[in-house]
Amino acid sequence: MRVLADRFGRVATDLRVSLTDRCNLRCSYCMPAEGLDWLPGEEVLTDDEVIRLITIGVDLLGVREIRFTGGEPLVRCGLVDIVRRTRLAAPDVELSMTTNALGLARTAAALADAGLNRVNVSLDSIRPETFAEITRRDRLPDVLAGIAAARDAGLRPVKLNAVLMRGLNDKQAPELLRWALSEGHQLRFIEQMPLDAQHRWSRTEMVEADEILERLEEEFTLTPAAEPRGSAPAELFLVDGGPATVGVIASVTRPFCGDCDRVRLTADGTLRNCLFAREESDLRTPLRNGATDDEIADRWVVAMSGKRAGHGIDDPKFLQPDRPMSAIGG
Ligand code: SAM
Ligand code: SF4
Repeated sequence: MRVLADRFGRVATDLRVSLTDRCNLRCSYCMPAEGLDWLPGEEVLTDDEVIRLITIGVDLLGVREIRFTGGEPLVRCGLVDIVRRTRLAAPDVELSMTTNALGLARTAAALADAGLNRVNVSLDSIRPETFAEITRRDRLPDVLAGIAAARDAGLRPVKLNAVLMRGLNDKQAPELLRWALSEGHQLRFIEQMPLDAQHRWSRTEMVEADEILERLEEEFTLTPAAEPRGSAPAELFLVDGGPATVGVIASVTRPFCGDCDRVRLTADGTLRNCLFAREESDLRTPLRNGATDDEIADRWVVAMSGKRAGHGIDDPKFLQPDRPMSAIGG
C-alpha cells in the first residue's frame, strides 16, 4: 500500500472531509455576519464522489480515521446516508464529526445507527446571551439539546471545543468547564487561529493557552495528564486530580506540526495537506474526467509530499490562507 508521507517523516492517516462550506451559525471568529459566497452546487462533490475518495483513502493510502466537518456538516442533505456508506466502505475506521450540534437532537440516533462513533461539538459559552453574541444566533437551547442527544445516542465521549475571545467569553472558561464536567463531556479550549474570513485575527489580542490555564487554575487544580499526546493536538490536564480532564489545543503558541497526521479534503474536492497550506490539489477534475483510483491515489501522494514543516504563524512573512476555516473544513 502507498502511504501519505511527507519529506519530514510524517504519515497522514487522519482524513478530514468537509461536506459543505455552508453554515447556519455565524461565529465571529469564523465568518462575517452576512455569511460568505457559498460554493455553487455543481462544484460540491456529490455523495458518490465523496464515498469514492474516502474509499481510495482507506483502501489505497492508509487512512485510519475519518472526521466529517464543514461549514456545518448537519446542513448537508443525505448526511446519514453518507455516514452509512462510509461505514460500509471502511468498517474499521474511527468515524467522527465536528459540528455545531444545531439539529443534532433530531439526527443523533440515526447517525449513531449509521456507524458514526463520536462527535466534537463547538460550544463557546453556556450563557444564552454570550452564545448569541458570538454565534450571532440565539440558538443555545437547540445546541444543548443536540449535545444531550449525542450522548444519549452513544456518540461518546462528546468532546466540546471552545474558542475564547477577549472581552466576550474569556472570563467564562471556568464555568464552561464546570458545566462540561457536570454533564460528563470532555472540554478542550482551542486557541483562536488566523483563519477567519474577515482577517480580523490579531496575535496580540488572541487568548493564549497560558492565559486559559491561568483562568482555569483560579478555580481548579490542573496537573498534566500522564497519557502520551501522540498526534493528538490537545494537551490534556487532570482536573482536581482526575479522572476528568480538560484539554488545551495551543495551535498558535505551542504548535504540534511535527506530529501532524492530518490531510483535508474540501467540499469542492481539493486536497490540503495543512490547514495553513497556500497550495491545494484538485482531485475533482480528474475524478470527473475518468481518472482511475490508482491515478487519483498517486496525485494524492504527490500532494502530501509537499507538506511544509510547520504553519509559520509567528514568521513575519506568514500569509493567511485564501480560504477561511469554514471553507477548508476545520
Ligand atoms: N461548524 C462545525 C463546528 O463549528 O464545529 C464544524 C466546522 S468549524 C470550522 C470546526 C471548528 O473550527 C470549530 O470547533 C470552531 O470552533 C473552530 N474554528 C473556527 N474558526 C476558528 C478560528 N479562527 N480559530 C480557531 N478555531 C476555529
Ligand atoms: Fe459555522 Fe462552525 Fe464556523 Fe461557527 S465555527 S460559523 S458553526 S462553521
